[in-house]
Amino acid sequence: MAVYITNTETGKKEKLRTMEPGVVKMYVCGPTVYNYIHIGNARPAVTFDAFRRFLEYKGYRVIMVQNFTDIDDKIIREANEWGVSFKDVADTFIMEYWKDAHALGIRAANFHPRTTDFVKEIIEMVEKLIAKEIAYVVENGDVYFSVRKFEKYGSLSGKNIDDLLAGARIEVNSLKKDPLDFVLWKSAKPSEPNWESPWGCGRPGWHIECSVMSQELLGDTFDIHAGGEDLIFPHHEDEKAQSEALTGKPFALQWMHNAMIIIRGDKMSKSLGNVFMVREAVRRYGKDAVKLFLLSKHYRTPIEFSPEILEDNKRAASRVLKTLKRYEEKYSYPLVPKRDAWLNEKEAEFIEALEDDFNTPKAIAILFETAKELNRAMDGGDEDKALKAYHLITRVFGSILGIFEEGSYYEERKDTAGEKVLEKIIEIRNKFRKEKNYIAADLIRDGLKELGIQLFDTADGTKWEKIDGGE
Ligand SMILES: [Zn+2]
Repeated sequence: MAVYITNTETGKKEKLRTMEPGVVKMYVCGPTVYNYIHIGNARPAVTFDAFRRFLEYKGYRVIMVQNFTDIDDKIIREANEWGVSFKDVADTFIMEYWKDAHALGIRAANFHPRTTDFVKEIIEMVEKLIAKEIAYVVENGDVYFSVRKFEKYGSLSGKNIDDLLAGARIEVNSLKKDPLDFVLWKSAKPSEPNWESPWGCGRPGWHIECSVMSQELLGDTFDIHAGGEDLIFPHHEDEKAQSEALTGKPFALQWMHNAMIIIRGDKMSKSLGNVFMVREAVRRYGKDAVKLFLLSKHYRTPIEFSPEILEDNKRAASRVLKTLKRYEEKYSYPLVPKRDAWLNEKEAEFIEALEDDFNTPKAIAILFETAKELNRAMDGGDEDKALKAYHLITRVFGSILGIFEEGSYYEERKDTAGEKVLEKIIEIRNKFRKEKNYIAADLIRDGLKELGIQLFDTADGTKWEKIDGGE
C-alpha cells in the first residue's frame, strides 16, 4: 500500500508525493545549539528518524537534512555570559547533541549543515531577492522581506494577511515598510559576531538559513519539510515565502509537523523554564521508555509530560525487555525464521498502521501484542513461533521505530548483572564492618569510589550512588 501523511498545508491526509520515484528528500529543522536538548526538542528528532527508517523499509532512498542553527541571539547571549566566542557555545552543544542523539538511538541524517557555513549562499539569496524587489535594504543595513509581494503568504499556516496585520505589533523605531515584513539580514550591533555583506557587516536572520540550506542540499523543490508545529508560523511560512517568491516553484511538496510536549498546559520550552533534559530522562527511565513515551501518541497529538507517565512507560518497556532477555537466554543465536501466514500478517498489520499517517500508537500496540505471543510461545515450548515473534519485535518493528533494538536489552542485562555484583560486594563489606575489620571495609569503599561508586552508610543500611569521574 502507499504511504499517507497529513500535509499541514492542506490539512488533509494525502498520498506521499516525491519529485523522483523512489527517492524522498526531506528537511527537518534542527536545534538552536545553546543548551542541552530537552524532551520537547527530542520529539521531532525521534519522530522523523523513525519515519525515515519506515520509508527505508518501504524501499525508498531517503536523503535527509537536519540543520544546526549555530548563530542566534540566544547563542550570543550565552557566549557573552561565559566570556567565550559564539562558536565555542555552538561547538559545545553540537557535541552534546550528538551524545543525546546517540543515547536515544537517533541516526545521523545525511547532512547536518550549520548556518555559519552557508553565509555566502545566504548573502547571494538575499541579493537575488533584493534584485527581484521582493526584499529591501533600510538605512541601518537591515534587509527585510516584503510580505505583501508574495501573494500566497499565509497559505501554509492558514492565516489571512489582513488578520495578521490587524494583530501585528507596531514596533517603535522600526524601519520596516510594513509591520508584517521579516528580517533576512541583520546589521551587526557593536561587538556582535558579523560577516561582511553588500549592506555592511551583519548576520543572517533566522528563516533565511533553512531556505538556503534545504535548497542548496536538496534542490529548489524537495519532498517533505518537517519540524515541530511551533515552527509553522512564522518560521516555515517565511521560509516558504522567500523561497517560492524567488524560484517561482513550490518549495516543499508536503509539510509534516509534530505536536508539542505539554507540561500543565504549557509547551515545554527553554524560555518557559519547564524543561526536562533528554539526558536526565534516559538516565532515570532508560532509552526505550523515553522513546516509547514519544512514539506511543500519534505525532500530531500533544503529549502531556509527567514523571508518572514516564514511570508507566518504563514499566511497559521493561516488560518487553524482560521477554526479549528471556528469549536470548534460552536461544543465543536466533536465526532468520521461515516466513508463514502468521508472520506475514503481523508484519503487514504493523506496516499498514504506519502507512496510515504514521500511526505509531497502533504500531506499538501490535509490538506489545507480539511480545505477549513471544512469552506464550516460550511457555508452550513452541520454538518456531517464538523465533518468529522475536524476529518481528527486534528486527522489524524495533528497527523501524528505533526501539527494543539489539543492544537495548544487552544494556539492561549488563546493568542488572553489575548491580547484583555490587550488592554482593556491599554485603561482604558489611560483614567486615560487623567484625570491626575497618581496614578491609575501607579498602572496598575506596576501591568502589575509584570506579565512580560512592557508598553511604545510613541508618537504613548501606546505599550507593554513581558519581562523576568513575567509569
Ligand atoms: Zn528551520
